[in-house]
Amino acid sequence: MKNALSVDVEDYFQVTGFEHVVDRARWDEYPVRFQIGLGRILQILDRHDVRATFFFLGWIAERYPEAVADVARRGHEVAIHGYAHRLVHSQRPDEFAEDLGRALAAVRKAYAGPILGYRAPTFSIRADTLWALEIIKDFGFRYDSSILPGRNGIADAQGLPHEIVDGLLEFPLSTVPVFGGRLRVAGGGYLRYEITQQCVHPIGHARRGARHHQRGAVRENRPRHPIDSDAGCRRRACAHDSCFARPARRRSSRPCGMAASGRRRKRSWRTSWAR
Ligand SMILES: [Zn+2]
Repeated sequence: MKNALSVDVEDYFQVTGFEHVVDRARWDEYPVRFQIGLGRILQILDRHDVRATFFFLGWIAERYPEAVADVARRGHEVAIHGYAHRLVHSQRPDEFAEDLGRALAAVRKAYAGPILGYRAPTFSIRADTLWALEIIKDFGFRYDSSILPGRNGIADAQGLPHEIVDGLLEFPLSTVPVFGGRLRVAGGGYLRYEITQQCVHPIGHARRGARHHQRGAVRENRPRHPIDSDAGCRRRACAHDSCFARPARRRSSRPCGMAASGRRRKRSWRTSWAR
């Protein structure tokens, strides 16, 4: 039995959940913190002699090539997470190819070894964007890890690794069958937010998911992010204007993302970042 641990190397201001308040053109203005979480993750992996796959955002690799080199030097796999963290279904095929090529070029400048894997931001390869798989294969990737089987992904997608198009393997996000559907048991969004919405203890549920996969001797695919190991960032997210922009249409003195829109939205931010 093998488990697959992976890390999407991006910063707190680049996640999809903040797209509506953080303009990509202003990414350079935000304090960079990904090295804090990344350093902690690398230390833990070193301590336990575990190797993982690190999907780098091209924007990060371009500005911080030493992070890519450090990950590779420690024996981990270097892979690609796109350049500007754009959802696949928000792009045309030519835009997707341009973003992917730019990311690949940025990572190759920092790392000369093999680059075999790609993961779309927020697992955004869906039934209507399967065209992206041919482009990924044409760039020379050997595998993709962008599909979430079930709700918010592809409802009838296979839950286990398989060859999805000729010459390209798919490593889907780990899920477990629940009430006729599939529930994800991995990923930063799952750990920070989704499971709290379902009133299930995250660790207990994650362990049940792991047991489910391990009983069947199935490879488990469990992604993390540097911000998941940076408690300081989560505190700052609700305390400093410098951490997150306010929506332009509502210039109040309320800090960061909590100023989103209305009472319900405010509670949602608190739920997802206050822990
Ligand atoms: Zn991401």
